[in-house]
Amino acid sequence: MNDHGSPSLRETNVGKLSRTRFDVLVLGGGINGAVSAAALAARGARVALIDRGDFAGSTSQESSNLAWGGIKYLESWEFGLVRKLCRARNLLIRSYPSTVEEIRFYAVHPRDFRHGRWKLLLGAWLYWAIGGFFTRRPRLLSRGDIGREEPIVEIDGLDGGFEYSDAYLHDNDARFVWRFVRSALDHGCVAANYVEALGSSRDGGEWITRARDVVARRELSIRSRLLVNACGPWADQVNARDAVRTAHRHVLSKGVHLLVDRLTQSRRVLTFFADDGRLFFVIPMGPKTCIGTTDTPADRPEVEVSPEDRRFVLENINKRLRLPRPLAERDIVAERCGVRPLVVDAAGDGARDWMQLSRKHAIETNAEERHVTIFGGKLTDCLNVGEEICVEALRLGVALPFADRVWYGEPHPAVREQFFHQARLMGLDGMTSPQSSEALSTRLWRRYGDEALAMLESIRRDPRMAEVIIETSEYLRCELDDAARREMVVKLEDFLRRRSKIALVVRHEDIRRAAGLREACRILFGEEADAKRAEYFGEPLEPAR
Ligand SMILES: Cc1cc2nc3c(=O)[nH]c(=O)nc-3n(C[C@H](O)[C@H](O)[C@H](O)COP(=O)(O)OP(=O)(O)OC[C@H]3O[C@@H](n4cnc5c(N)ncnc54)[C@H](O)[C@@H]3O)c2cc1C
Repeated sequence: MNDHGSPSLRETNVGKLSRTRFDVLVLGGGINGAVSAAALAARGARVALIDRGDFAGSTSQESSNLAWGGIKYLESWEFGLVRKLCRARNLLIRSYPSTVEEIRFYAVHPRDFRHGRWKLLLGAWLYWAIGGFFTRRPRLLSRGDIGREEPIVEIDGLDGGFEYSDAYLHDNDARFVWRFVRSALDHGCVAANYVEALGSSRDGGEWITRARDVVARRELSIRSRLLVNACGPWADQVNARDAVRTAHRHVLSKGVHLLVDRLTQSRRVLTFFADDGRLFFVIPMGPKTCIGTTDTPADRPEVEVSPEDRRFVLENINKRLRLPRPLAERDIVAERCGVRPLVVDAAGDGARDWMQLSRKHAIETNAEERHVTIFGGKLTDCLNVGEEICVEALRLGVALPFADRVWYGEPHPAVREQFFHQARLMGLDGMTSPQSSEALSTRLWRRYGDEALAMLESIRRDPRMAEVIIETSEYLRCELDDAARREMVVKLEDFLRRRSKIALVVRHEDIRRAAGLREACRILFGEEADAKRAEYFGEPLEPAR
């Protein structure tokens, strides 16, 4: 319940889950489940989406935040995959111009590397051509260029490098996923986080999924004509439990990133070859820098950062940068760690395939059982996944009355123009907080699209709505208000780590000490504020005074 005694968006939706017969139930609210729900709902299907944790609470919050065409797959001659991913990247840049931004990759070349510098430059030109010349052209870098333009890079042992373009997610991956969940909700999808699927079985031509509302600790059952398994690294376990046999399965590759204070002022991705020969990045993230990643086999989806992972990332970065002092564990502000679900043939030898595994996705349909599983994939390819799920749904008899509707993209340019005009008239950018990395109007538009117009209205009505609440962050009272009503925030972590990126750029201890945190919790959780705060910090709940 909210403070006015009416049920929250999540409570309403959990209630609807057991009362409705859905065309499609999507299990898993990572990027693949979110785009499936968004595409199907926008095209007119009756859709439900559940996740046993928060939306984007797993793999889709642990990526490198890049939308990229996969330049490295040129080495394994996967031109078809590179072309497909480049097209997917270009479509994302075109559809989400304020969120998915072209960014320069500044790649250095060690003298003794397995390929020569000119060969790599040639590869970068080929990559540019395969990408339809959509981005800025590649450029050769001499040692002198690197020393001048990125003095932080250690140039000893290099014979130069090259620069090329890909794209990155300005906010972060989890916020990007939320955009699709919100869009699905806007089109009538019944989505709820913290609802776990316990098992699905066929009954008289439909699927009955037994599920558990993790918050209320209650069981419910959900009926659907079609079941989509978008459980990412858990998809195989879920299929095994539901007796669904598939021709594909996953092998898992663990990847770790560390966040540290900003290392360079330039907004570029510094690109190195790590000691194991794989690509290694220094990526801008707001006021911080994200470094990584690792790529090691994992035998289960639940992973955490090990001391060896930390050592590997820190050693590799310290060797490649000229820093006033080497980075150490005490410099780590936050960590990210997840597994890449990589698709292989179920009958094949995953170990043998490991070295050649690419990051394609596969959508496998069992027409007789009306069941679809999404295997593998990348955030970059998400719009294709949404399209392909619609094709499969149509093939399996789900009616999509608006089958040609474009289901993705930012609002129409006229709405954008209207927003920025109104923002100018009320002097919104003058209210930008000093700790903010960009103008307020730009940030609100990127995060909320047309909903940002309602925020302008609420600031006009009550200027306190433009106040920053948690002083170490840049989020305003009206954003917290919106999150409480529209963003299905169940735990404090949902807001700090996924709806916003506060937990990635502010140290845990600084968040705990932030004077505005209690008020933020009151806005988000009403009477439950203290309990939610205590839950986040793993503290006992203080007795009420
Ligand atoms: C280190 C790393 C770096 C990466 N970098 C990039 C990159 O830069 N660019 C890029 O494009 N891609 C990148 N990727 C790949 C990309 O992040 C993943 O392919 C993508 O996030 C997978 O999304 P998903 O929806 O399939 O899985 P997930 O995000 O894991 O979603 C699956 C969901 O299913 C839910 N679930 C599981 N079981 C149940 C159940 N019983 N009931 C209900 N829900 C359930 C889980 O809670 C989870 O939220 C990277 C991945 C990693 C790990």
